[in-house]
Amino acid sequence: MTASDIHTPQYFWQQDAARHALRAALDADRLATAYLFVGPEGVGKWAAAQWTAKALLCEAPERGNRPCHECGGCKRAAKFTHPDLHLLYPVPKKDDEEHIAAFLETKRDNPFAVIEYNRKPNLAIERVRDVQTELSKTAAEGGKKVAVIGEADQMAPNVHGILLKSIEEPPPNTHFVLTTADPGRIPQTIHSRCQTIRFTAVDPELIAQRLVDEGIAAPDQAHMAAHLSDGGWGHALRLCDEESVAWRSDVETLWQKAFQPQLSDFIDQMETMFRGGQKFNETVQAFDIWSLLLWRDARAAFASSDTASASMATPSLDVAWSCWKILQQGRATLWVNVLPRSAVRGTFLALRKRMGLG
Ligand SMILES: [Zn+2]
Repeated sequence: MTASDIHTPQYFWQQDAARHALRAALDADRLATAYLFVGPEGVGKWAAAQWTAKALLCEAPERGNRPCHECGGCKRAAKFTHPDLHLLYPVPKKDDEEHIAAFLETKRDNPFAVIEYNRKPNLAIERVRDVQTELSKTAAEGGKKVAVIGEADQMAPNVHGILLKSIEEPPPNTHFVLTTADPGRIPQTIHSRCQTIRFTAVDPELIAQRLVDEGIAAPDQAHMAAHLSDGGWGHALRLCDEESVAWRSDVETLWQKAFQPQLSDFIDQMETMFRGGQKFNETVQAFDIWSLLLWRDARAAFASSDTASASMATPSLDVAWSCWKILQQGRATLWVNVLPRSAVRGTFLALRKRMGLG
């Protein structure tokens, strides 16, 4: 099984409502001009958009107008090389071309992939105008034209304006699929002209099971990744890559070192892990992991009354509860310009104090 076989066949994994809505529209040959796919990151909105594009560009549709996945139209739609498939998505401004190529390569391999950037991405107005021009022409292959617009919330107002005009007065045989994890930032004028299809977070237990079944992660790692994924399969996959697993391992080790009598090991490792002011996303994740570990340790301590086996010094419920609050407060300070290293140091000193470790 190749990597793409693992990720691509299930376009609507655990998204029955979305699948039924689109299939019903295709059955009746009444696909809307514009759809807005709404749902958390990594749940498969892009995969569903790709499936919809295939359905529109398929040269030999199956019963109910469903894509055959075999013809030239479907295959080129899957590779994003079909001349009547137009894609727009935000990338960081610098090195645009490089980011665009990397985005397509990643999504080709796995449409569920979650792509994160260190800098805020945006959608250049020139790219939107180019697509608008293409859509105004007759389809290159005489059939339909499809525009897929990923993360449609992350656009400047003037870009939303152009998009609105296209959707309001669509060129003939043209369909739009917009995706967003943040529908509150899509202007109401666009929202009201799209048919909304909802995608939902997937039960972490199902994600963990699938990670294990497909040999992507061992059970321990699978559970941790699934619970940190916010119900997004694409997110969970990313959390299972080598770099993420290594980071989580460091984060767990730091948790254990934090509650030893001597703090020197803890300080050394913390300085290495949180050197410099970067690593915002990683630090947020570290706080989430420590929250999970706190309850894991507390539960183990409650169950066995064997405090020696857990890293937490005291197993009482009120201590666990206030430690959890300390972690949440530390996590919150990351948004008010506190350096990750300072937030981590301050949090662990407060935790030790609450546990009576001084
Ligand atoms: Zn086909």
